[in-house]
Amino acid sequence: MPAQPKPSWLKVRLPHGAQWRNVEEVLATRRLHTVCDEARCPNKGECWGAGTATFMIMGDICTRNCRFCAVATARNGVPLDPEEPARLADAVRTLGLRYAVITSVDRDDLPDRGASHFAACIRAIRADAPDVRVEVLIPDYVDQELEIVLAVAPDVLAHNVETVRRLQQVRDHRASFDKSLTTLRQAAARGLVTKSSLLLGLGEQREEVHAAMRELREAGVSILVLGQYLRPTPAQVEVAEYIHPDTFKEYETEGLAMGFTTVVAAPFARTSYHAREAWEQS
Ligand code: SF4
Repeated sequence: MPAQPKPSWLKVRLPHGAQWRNVEEVLATRRLHTVCDEARCPNKGECWGAGTATFMIMGDICTRNCRFCAVATARNGVPLDPEEPARLADAVRTLGLRYAVITSVDRDDLPDRGASHFAACIRAIRADAPDVRVEVLIPDYVDQELEIVLAVAPDVLAHNVETVRRLQQVRDHRASFDKSLTTLRQAAARGLVTKSSLLLGLGEQREEVHAAMRELREAGVSILVLGQYLRPTPAQVEVAEYIHPDTFKEYETEGLAMGFTTVVAAPFARTSYHAREAWEQS
């Protein structure tokens, strides 16, 4: 399929301002990674300019190999740093965040795939700043691994199905729509606010998006995020379609009618985009 020209509505805001420089400095001095950088998120100018970022823990090497993602991959990640939770908590306090979003690379090379490290990061933030709300965007943990994270009760538990059922092959072969639904269902059954995202423009049909939305709702997901897939580098799968903003609006209306408490649907919407506002709405 030939490359699609980028439409006019996909204009990225350039980085600037004192807040931006402050975020950059705090992250650098605490030696922290962000998914904003590693995944080349188009919202970096806006989010960092507003003084916020999404932390990516457990290193910058992912053990999975999804075809839409620009994060570096290898069979093994970097050794876990036991000081990372403390540095993360320090960054949250220094940046004055009232809502922290943490995600990670996948760590299939670790015995609990990093679930204990996630829990340690949440505990460290809470010990430092009990009023800070914490959202975690986790790998496809189920059962005991998921229990480790649920035990420290994050305010929002996010896990992404990424795309519709038919196109799951763009994810790593170890991921699946059903496995992700199990993660979300188990978390929702424990009373957590759950959230999931799809990237659109990978070749999905509208009815397939509706079907995915229905399945997420049935699994108990309350916050839905729909955004445009943007090819981060030529190494990733091509964009099949640029979805018009009006279509995102229609998905938002349809999602609310299905019973989601919050639907964030826009070309630049990402799981962590305006996460605090999405949680407040939910
Ligand atoms: S949307 Fe999320 S990942 Fe993207 S720049 Fe904002 S905080 Fe970072």
